[in-house]
Amino acid sequence: MAEMMAARLVKPGEPLSIESISVPVPEADEVLIKVAACGLCGTDIHLAVDGDIPVERMPITLGHEAAGTVVGVGGDVTDYKEGDRVAMFPGAYCGECAYCRAGRHSLCENSKVYGMARDGGLAHYMTAPARAVIPIPDGVPFEIAAIITDGVSTPLHALRGRGKLVEGEAVAVVGCGGLGTHAVMLAKLLGAGTIVAVDIQPEARERALELGADLALDPMDADAIKTMRSHLGRRGVDLALEFVGRAKTAEMAIKLLDKCGRAVFVGVGMERPSLPPMIAFVGREQSVIGSFGMDRADIEDLFLMVVEGRLDLSGSVSARYSLADANDALQHLVRKETGTVRVVVVPGD
Ligand SMILES: [Zn+2]
Ligand SMILES: [Zn+2]
Repeated sequence: MAEMMAARLVKPGEPLSIESISVPVPEADEVLIKVAACGLCGTDIHLAVDGDIPVERMPITLGHEAAGTVVGVGGDVTDYKEGDRVAMFPGAYCGECAYCRAGRHSLCENSKVYGMARDGGLAHYMTAPARAVIPIPDGVPFEIAAIITDGVSTPLHALRGRGKLVEGEAVAVVGCGGLGTHAVMLAKLLGAGTIVAVDIQPEARERALELGADLALDPMDADAIKTMRSHLGRRGVDLALEFVGRAKTAEMAIKLLDKCGRAVFVGVGMERPSLPPMIAFVGREQSVIGSFGMDRADIEDLFLMVVEGRLDLSGSVSARYSLADANDALQHLVRKETGTVRVVVVPGD
């Protein structure tokens, strides 16, 4: 049986095991993909380093932001053939539950997320059910396709699907790392009015201003909210997105809102934010909304935005690592190195 290299999570907190395992064999409804690129994200740190998101089984090949070429198909697969370029939806969804039928694939009742419940993309090859792979149009490079599947689609879903951004509305982005940086770009693209970026790193604030933010705030600055209010000429923004997953930043997102404002929590965390009294939500008609992942349509729409030249993600891949260096790639994210938007592993041949 053919062998391949894979970066496997054996125990959270320990380095990934870079080892040789069998090339997986696709089931009847699956395709076999030669992985061309696989992005890493904050969730991978939760899984492999902090261990605060449970993994269904170990060892497991990490990586849920993958794209590559179909090199084999199961007996029942008719939609794909060898040579097709595809990206993986981050979870292998069932296509049949109520959420899948409603197009809400991240909420699938039977989802098997790569790197959590089934082997992911930090390998030379992976399998995926054909229904949960997405064709990549010409003109979208593999690396860009890979990061779109999560790093770019998650903020799009938060802004458009859950945040219901209306053209001209003021938007605040709290946490301008990988997801937040893309949120700033997408808010601009979707026609947001004033865009306020919030990050403790001066470099992240600078980048946000270059990519379309009108104002960048340091949350440690005691006058941050005052500065925002005088810039906006009103009490706050219409939509605030939280990408950090900490109590303090969630509380900040709510504080940034004007009347009728929506705070959307995207960051994954276990902390418990303290909320304003109920009267504040009632009297100001504010809402707090959760946003998890993306719909398949978010990814497809982003591919089109890139093809049409409306969205330039060429600056989004900050660093590339080989599969053998997958642990270095992970540590790159752990160190929160300045200038990092997205880190990608390129398995190569
Ligand atoms: Zn992710
Ligand atoms: Zn489903």
